[in-house]
Amino acid sequence: MAYRMIHVLIIQLPVPHLDYGVQTGNIPLGAAYLKQAAAQVSRVEVDILPQSIASYLGDAALMDIISEHRPDIVGFTVYCWNLKRSLFLSKKLKESYMPQIVFGGPEITPDNPLIDSQYVDFLVYGEGEAVFLKLLQDQTLWEKGSAAEPAGAIFRDSPSPYLHNVLEPEIDNVMLLETQRGCPYRCGYCYYNKSHAGLTFADESHLIQAVKWALDHDVKELYLLDPSLNVRPGLKDLLKEISLINKSRRLEIISEIRAEAIDAQMADLFAAAGFSWFEIGLQSTNPQALEIMNRPTDTRRFAQGAQLIKERGIVPAVDLIIGLPGDDLQGFSHSVEFVARHNLYDDIQVFPLSVLPGTDFRLNSNKLGLQFDESPPYTLIESPVFSKEDMLLALDYAEVRFDVVMYPMPDLDVSWRHSGDPLKTSPPDIAVQIGKDRYIAKIQLDCERPIPELESLARRLAQPYQIFVHPRLRDPDFIKKALRILSAPNPFTPLEIIFLEPQGTPDTAALMPAVELRRPHFLDQDLRYLFPAEGNRAVLCSLVTQDATHRFTGNMERQIFWWKKNRFPESPDFAELYALDGILIDGAHSDVEIKIWQDRYANRAGDIPFISFADVFMQKRWLLLTAPDDYVAGVLNWVGCRR
Ligand code: SF4
Repeated sequence: MAYRMIHVLIIQLPVPHLDYGVQTGNIPLGAAYLKQAAAQVSRVEVDILPQSIASYLGDAALMDIISEHRPDIVGFTVYCWNLKRSLFLSKKLKESYMPQIVFGGPEITPDNPLIDSQYVDFLVYGEGEAVFLKLLQDQTLWEKGSAAEPAGAIFRDSPSPYLHNVLEPEIDNVMLLETQRGCPYRCGYCYYNKSHAGLTFADESHLIQAVKWALDHDVKELYLLDPSLNVRPGLKDLLKEISLINKSRRLEIISEIRAEAIDAQMADLFAAAGFSWFEIGLQSTNPQALEIMNRPTDTRRFAQGAQLIKERGIVPAVDLIIGLPGDDLQGFSHSVEFVARHNLYDDIQVFPLSVLPGTDFRLNSNKLGLQFDESPPYTLIESPVFSKEDMLLALDYAEVRFDVVMYPMPDLDVSWRHSGDPLKTSPPDIAVQIGKDRYIAKIQLDCERPIPELESLARRLAQPYQIFVHPRLRDPDFIKKALRILSAPNPFTPLEIIFLEPQGTPDTAALMPAVELRRPHFLDQDLRYLFPAEGNRAVLCSLVTQDATHRFTGNMERQIFWWKKNRFPESPDFAELYALDGILIDGAHSDVEIKIWQDRYANRAGDIPFISFADVFMQKRWLLLTAPDDYVAGVLNWVGCRR
């Protein structure tokens, strides 16, 4: 009797962004461990949706790819940022051909009401490998609906999945390495410590092998996924070994650590091994807040440890949390002053508290009086001593004191044409090549395009995508119709609408109801502090005009000066246009002239207005020159699409 092969596809959807081509960090390491573990099961083939496809495609395009392959089992790695989108795709897949669907990942906890769905057959709590192996071999387990089983032994003895080419590091040129599972601490806001009972450390020989692999494959950055690297037994010996392999320090290593654990010898060893950055959570210096979150911290030793690594050229990235139970505005400002006084804000990160499922804070939220958003990322709205206004004031205080913007607007990219392709009647849509196929990233609405054409485009959209409304298209009803057709099959895909020299000021409030995004979108919640009033954060509107009077100033609106002169803007022009949100350079310049200007200004980009270039290739060059660590060159593969 011939047995049929079972085909499994594992999908990990990214944090949504409004900048196309930005690094998403969406590396499906959990899926890779599952695939590696399943290699021992016969008649099962596990695929992972490639990162470039999972991260840069709109909902409809993703849906079509998955249904075309019709895997028997579809697994989703679920985080707070992709939960609702994963549920949406599950529903669509069930409607399409009824695969078996399994959810796992940090968002899957018994106390999370949002995961209760008729479209998900099975929930895996905590680590995935052991339960996944059973699901592949025992059909009756599916009937139970959920399971949890430790996988420490499998993890300890598994080499890094990169060694078996299960993951592609080339997208971000970053490699993730899990060196330990579990955490001995019990911080009230964190779920990680509950996802694995006790501590399991990966075999040292596997870690050394992985570091060698990273060096052999020219990986730029190795991220040791350790919540607290300091608790690893024999850490100093491991660091000595790594420093011998990474003598040149060509491989940059980054990780997380409790700063109090760092002494001078340890700091020397980190530097010698090639460490360049450490996330060190301080969260608060308020003794009451530290006690309630069960995170005892010796602030004097914390500062000492952070200074020791900083003196050795390792960036200490300190985290602070706004709205912790037991903390108030004054307590938070003391924490800010502590970090400022010790000059530890090189890469400061300030977050509002997220009351995550599975955490002690979620369990005790009533007792603690925490009011939080019901939608991910479950941001604290207010606590008994931290009012809504205090949350905003705290963020303002930190931004001013550290001279940083914690919630920046998306980068400026309003490029819309290919070189030598001036404004003409039918400019081509602009696509990107991802894998074998092309996906539309920039749609031209220069006339009333046929409805079937728009419907076809809607199924091939990149994530995010842009709609350029040209001067010739004036009918607001057609614009609304187009927005509806494009967004309805893509209810989780963020977008930007760019109005090129319209008559009058676009009425975005009238257009917005035509955009059929599922609200609240993750970005609506996650970027709530971008503006004081709540509302849309997933649709950006940009006005590109030669009128320098600043008039497009609402939330999620920005006004760009359309620079069509035959010379480039220089310092006096920047001063004149500084009140606007940027400049689109769209004159009759040759590529050589543009490159010379870009090279002159690239290292001063932070001191001049935001700049974009009309030509997509020149724009790509500018992004890679000015933000090389933020963008993925490999997915900025522009191609024109003739209509
Ligand atoms: S926040 Fe970090 S140190 Fe605290 S329990 Fe979670 S993983 Fe451990």
